[in-house]
Amino acid sequence: MKMLIVEDESKTGEYLRKGLNEAGYNTDLARDGTDGLHLALTTNYDLIILDVMLPGLDGWQILKSVRHSGQSTPVLFLTARDAVEDRVKGLELGADDYLVKPFAFAELLARVRTLLRRGRNGTEPTTLSVADLELDLLRRRVMRAGKRIDLTAKEFALLELLMRREGEVLPRTLIASQVWDMNFDSDTNVIEVAVRRLRGKIDDSFDTKLIQTVRGMGYVLEAPDPE
Ligand code: CA
Repeated sequence: MKMLIVEDESKTGEYLRKGLNEAGYNTDLARDGTDGLHLALTTNYDLIILDVMLPGLDGWQILKSVRHSGQSTPVLFLTARDAVEDRVKGLELGADDYLVKPFAFAELLARVRTLLRRGRNGTEPTTLSVADLELDLLRRRVMRAGKRIDLTAKEFALLELLMRREGEVLPRTLIASQVWDMNFDSDTNVIEVAVRRLRGKIDDSFDTKLIQTVRGMGYVLEAPDPE
């Protein structure tokens, strides 16, 4: 799941980005309204977290343009002012929820999860499955052959990526940018280690191995051909 955060206060922006990344979400952070609107209109996000007071375009203008373009991406707006007019205005313009600053991260995360659940009703499946492996995006739970498997947030994000792109060989650089949101030097083994750990959890105790290494290319997750 990928989110856009539009927030000009760097402390708040980094706090949100870090917290959401640790919770297993990918994030883009825009520090002004112009960048925020550009990203919102050109990237497919599952959720947009929008500060209201921004340099360039303000949150209302971004929200208006996003809705005007026909996007129904859930929008959670952040307002520093506990003003009723602000909340009414935001909801009238098509925002889905709001939070008044300062807020506790746990509360933000709860709102985010509710919006993601609502935003996905009837649109996209909330579970991914390959063979007997099932990943529940909302409960953030993984089962294989009916057995619960505990993953860290990074392992979950890695598995989600592999399952969404089932059957595609994913290069390490793509995995690095999608799951770690950064570029790794080619000599780091962060991805190898993460894949090994993930295999240890989802493949090692099962006869059928789902994650394959494609030498010199990357990794692919797929169900083997039926015999
Ligand atoms: Ca602001």
